[in-house]
Amino acid sequence: MKIDLTDVKKLSQWLQSAEKEELSDIIRYFYEEASDNECLELHKLACEARDMHYHGRVYFRGLIEFTNYCRNDCYYCGLQRSNKCVTRYRLSEEEILGCCEKGYAAGFRTFVLQGGEDMYFTDLRLCRIISKIKEKYPDCAVTLSIGERSKQSYKNLFDAGADRYLLRHETANEEHYRKLHPAELSLENRKRCLYNLKEVGFQVGSGFMVDSPYQTYETLAEDFIFLRELKPHMIGIGPFIPHRHTRFAGYYNPTSRHTLILLSLVRIMLPKTLLPATTALGSVDKQGQIKGFAAGANVIMPNLSPFEHRADYALYDNKLYTGLEAAEHLALLMRNIESIGLIPDLSRGDYVDMQKAGVSVSSDEACRKEKN
Ligand code: SAH
Repeated sequence: MKIDLTDVKKLSQWLQSAEKEELSDIIRYFYEEASDNECLELHKLACEARDMHYHGRVYFRGLIEFTNYCRNDCYYCGLQRSNKCVTRYRLSEEEILGCCEKGYAAGFRTFVLQGGEDMYFTDLRLCRIISKIKEKYPDCAVTLSIGERSKQSYKNLFDAGADRYLLRHETANEEHYRKLHPAELSLENRKRCLYNLKEVGFQVGSGFMVDSPYQTYETLAEDFIFLRELKPHMIGIGPFIPHRHTRFAGYYNPTSRHTLILLSLVRIMLPKTLLPATTALGSVDKQGQIKGFAAGANVIMPNLSPFEHRADYALYDNKLYTGLEAAEHLALLMRNIESIGLIPDLSRGDYVDMQKAGVSVSSDEACRKEKN
């Protein structure tokens, strides 16, 4: 396969219109045949694509993992309801607001509330929490990542002030979806939720795990095609990491390589996307998140959750929770980002077409805060 790695616009156009077979061929090529140098060229093109829209800025989100109760039984996830080894917890409204307070003081202007599908959190309870956060911090964005709900529920949450919603589609291939989820969950509903979220008015994030069991070049090509159709504002892509109490325990030894390739291809295909260097990427490779930025990512989500619960939010084994991803290391993380020529940015960091003129906070300010 001959791929022209000299012109980012050309490659971008090609990826936007390529057929399924061509997409699976290019993924196969970079996984199996491309030299390190070619991969490097690809990563550089991806940074070029990002910088056309985001000018080297890396946005920060404060992640609050507020409940690990879940009614679902996704086969890959450590929080699946049949995992009896999990110490379950849920944060109170006060604890969630406490995380925001700590995050706001550190400079964060986006809070991501993520959790299992915990029915304790009714619309009423969630709307109260969202409106309190927005009341106290009107200059902040609230992102939710709490799974599948009805369109009316999404509307209620949006009306209460939530701005963004993350819901990975996980895989766009029906058969593959079946192999990762129990029968009561369906790809059809997952997709419907994503379109509903868009219609309601959220900035929407989708995405998938890399090297999940039964993933193939063809299923990945279908993921790309689905992302082209949905045009999400954010795309979460991270390595699948086996969890010891799931059926996929010991499935393989994950690395960062494939994720970095896919981050670059997705960035070039949809250049305006907000693309996180995920905690999972940092968990399989100490330098993973920095490599992610050098491959075209532009978002990081440091953890603001209370220390005593971090180990219990174990989606997968060996999840990072005291490293660079933790909010406590913000100033160091910012310096690392600057050391590869990028600009840490603590502003709300909306999707480029939705940005208002805002003020960004530099690492100097974060350093000052750390010293105080
Ligand atoms: N309940 C919410 C949030 C889920 S956790 C929801 O359904 O959206 C967020 C993401 O973690 C999931 O979408 C999944 O892609 C990822 N994840 C779950 N288990 C994982 C594993 N073993 N390895 C890597 N990522 C995993």
